[in-house]
Amino acid sequence: MAAGGVVLEVDGVSKSFGALSALSRVGLAVSEGEVFSIIGPNGAGKSTLFNVIAGLHAPSAGRVVFRGHEITGLPPERINRLGIAKTFQITNVFPEISVGENVRVAAQSRSADSGRVASLWRAADVEVRVTELLESFGLAVKRDELAQHLSHGEQRYLEICLALATEPTLLLLDEPTAGMTPGETRDATALVRKIALQRGLTVLLIEHDMSVVMGISDRIAVLHFGEKIAEGTPEAIRSDARVIEAYLGGADD
Ligand code: ADP
Ligand code: MG
Repeated sequence: MAAGGVVLEVDGVSKSFGALSALSRVGLAVSEGEVFSIIGPNGAGKSTLFNVIAGLHAPSAGRVVFRGHEITGLPPERINRLGIAKTFQITNVFPEISVGENVRVAAQSRSADSGRVASLWRAADVEVRVTELLESFGLAVKRDELAQHLSHGEQRYLEICLALATEPTLLLLDEPTAGMTPGETRDATALVRKIALQRGLTVLLIEHDMSVVMGISDRIAVLHFGEKIAEGTPEAIRSDARVIEAYLGGADD
């Protein structure tokens, strides 16, 4: 496990939608450089937890602290600027512009924060960053193609590029391998791990493929009907009786 301090603290977070309790007093402490996975059956509250962290939903109770600053209820753009980027369960690539333009737009949204002049000064940096990202995901040859012409798996790769283009220190990946071929899944997993190590990035991952989760995670938390029922290393989770009963045993998710 990574030795860094806690970068993200989720403290007693609850979220209700009307009468439905999607999250119930969930707590997490994610350390710097860690790959931390959230697993659990469909409807367990995994995406809702990400939406609360990323500012898309205000929690009904509890708080979220990032690098020592409380971010509970801040708008998503503020949270992104502070260094948290999120990919969506459903892809958010712009289909009608090129692959390279997609990444450039994301990278510029980051550079533009410090004002127009600064973003002009940094135009060359943006190009370097776009090229680097496309190369590391094997998308450099597709740079000038419209994003809609990418395969589904390539669009998922592009989506991760878009999130990384904003230079986050914490990356939230919501089922990044959904719809990927087994080969793409293997490659994407290795790549995320490598990028996390290279950049000292902390990764919070929602993933249903147990071979991916067990292979990539430093720690895993298990959600079940909005409650955290277990947390620990892959080995500990694999042999946790409650987890096996609620999720791993016979789950088709
Ligand atoms: P998971 O990602 O673990 O599959 P979700 O976080 O998407 O689960 O959903 C948890 C529960 O909250 C589900 O019962 C879902 O139907 C409900 N839910 C999620 N988002 C909303 C919303 N915006 N409005 C109403 N109910 C929602
Ligand atoms: Mg989900």
